[in-house]
Amino acid sequence: MIIQLNHNSTETQKQELLKKLESLHTYYKWVEAKNLIVLPKLNDSAFLKNESCIEYITETDTPYQLASIQFKEHTSFNVKGATISKQSFQMIAGPCSIETESQIEETAAFLASLGIKFIRGGAYKPRTSPYSFRGLGLDGLKLIRKAADKYDLRVVTEIMDLSLLDEVYEYTDILQVGSRNMHNFSLLDELGKIDKPILLKRGMHARVNEWLLAAEYILSGGNDKVILCERGIRSFDNATRNVMDVGVIPLIKELSHLPVIADPSHGTGQASRVEALSLAAVAAGANGLLIEVHPNPSKALSDAYQAVSFDNFKSIASKVEAIRECLKSFSSDQESVLKLQSF
Ligand code: PEP
Ligand code: MN
Repeated sequence: MIIQLNHNSTETQKQELLKKLESLHTYYKWVEAKNLIVLPKLNDSAFLKNESCIEYITETDTPYQLASIQFKEHTSFNVKGATISKQSFQMIAGPCSIETESQIEETAAFLASLGIKFIRGGAYKPRTSPYSFRGLGLDGLKLIRKAADKYDLRVVTEIMDLSLLDEVYEYTDILQVGSRNMHNFSLLDELGKIDKPILLKRGMHARVNEWLLAAEYILSGGNDKVILCERGIRSFDNATRNVMDVGVIPLIKELSHLPVIADPSHGTGQASRVEALSLAAVAAGANGLLIEVHPNPSKALSDAYQAVSFDNFKSIASKVEAIRECLKSFSSDQESVLKLQSF
C-alpha cells in the first residue's frame, strides 16, 4: 500500500508515523521527493485510520506499487511544451546513431517539416560486437542538441552507463534506458533521482512484471516521469529480429498509469515491416512510436536494415494519423461506428 502524506504535515508527525511503521518490522520506503511512503508487503490500512498527517492511502495488491493503476489513473507530463501521457500521442524519430553533422541536421529539418517534436539518436551505442560502430560519444551529443535546437525539437538519447549520467543529462531532454540495461538497477536508482523523463525500453527477455518493477525503481526514487517502450522480445523463432508484443500495449494500459509507446524498428528489425507494426501499435492504443529513420538507410552505421527512408517515414506518419483519426471517430461518433458495422 502507499501512504500519501499531507503536504503540511510536520516533521514530528512524520517521525512518529515512521516509528509506528518500524515497529511493524515490515519493509517501507519513504519517497521523500513525493512525500509518500510505500509499504509493499502491507495491504490493510485500518491501523492507520486516525493518523492526521496522512492525506490518503492506496491499497495495492501488485508487486509494483507506484507503477500500478491502483495508485493513479494516468501520468501526464510536459517536455518543453510537448505533452506525453497515457491519453496523448507523440512520434519520436531519428537515426539509430548520430553519425555526422549533416546526417542529424538533415534528419532534424525533415522531422520538423512534418511537425514531429522529438528527435532520437544514439551517441553511446550498445553493440553486440565491440568492433561495430559504437557512436560518436560527446561529439554526437553536441551534434544532436545543436540540430534539435535549430528546429525546436526535443532530444531523446540513450544513457548506457552511470558514469555518463551528467554528460547525457546535460544534452538530452529524455534519457532512454535501452533493452540491455532494463535490469541495470543501480542505473535505474540514479535515474530516479533526476528531474528529466526516462524512456524505459522493455528488456528483450523481460516479463511484464519485471518491466513494471524496473519502472518502480525509477518511480520510487522520486522521478515520476517514466515512459514505457515495447521494442520486441526474443522468441524461439529467429525469422524476425524480435517479436514485437502488440498485445502488451493494452495490457500495460490496464495495469499501469504510465504512457506506453512502441518501437517497431527494433520490434521487427526490417524496414519493410516497420509500417505494418507502427499501424498495429497505434491501433492497439500506443501513446507514441519510436522509429529509426535515416537520410540514406543503406549507409547507416548501425541498424541499417531497419532504418526507413524519409519517403517511407512520411507515408508511415500519414497513415498513423489516419488511424488515429479513425480511432477518434470511433470513440466520439457512435453513428459512424454503426455505419461501418453495417458493411
Ligand atoms: C536503440 O534504440 O537504438 C537501441 C539500441 O534500442 P534497444 O535498447 O531497444 O535495442
Ligand atoms: Mn538502433
